[in-house]
Amino acid sequence: MNALQKSVTCPPKEKRCTFCAHTFRYVRRDTLYCSRACRQAAYRLRTGAGRYNNMACTVCGKEIQTIRWDRMVCSSACRQRLYRQRKALAQP
Ligand SMILES: [Zn+2]
Ligand SMILES: [Zn+2]
Repeated sequence: MNALQKSVTCPPKEKRCTFCAHTFRYVRRDTLYCSRACRQAAYRLRTGAGRYNNMACTVCGKEIQTIRWDRMVCSSACRQRLYRQRKALAQP
């Protein structure tokens, strides 16, 4: 009995990706995701990383956590300051 030959001739089984529900052929039985991207996305979702982005406030430089890339200020006060700065720059 040849174990190696057995694993080669054994046809790949199909299962559903735990993340995107796509059907894919797996080689290893413990594979849960169809692709590396799905595995990484699932990992990020599970750990919470990627959901919050550590950024620095564009006005005062204070570190902030935001779920939106377009939110770049730590507070409404800084937002107003940024707005006034932009307005001042826009003046001829
Ligand atoms: Zn997937
Ligand atoms: Zn700030």
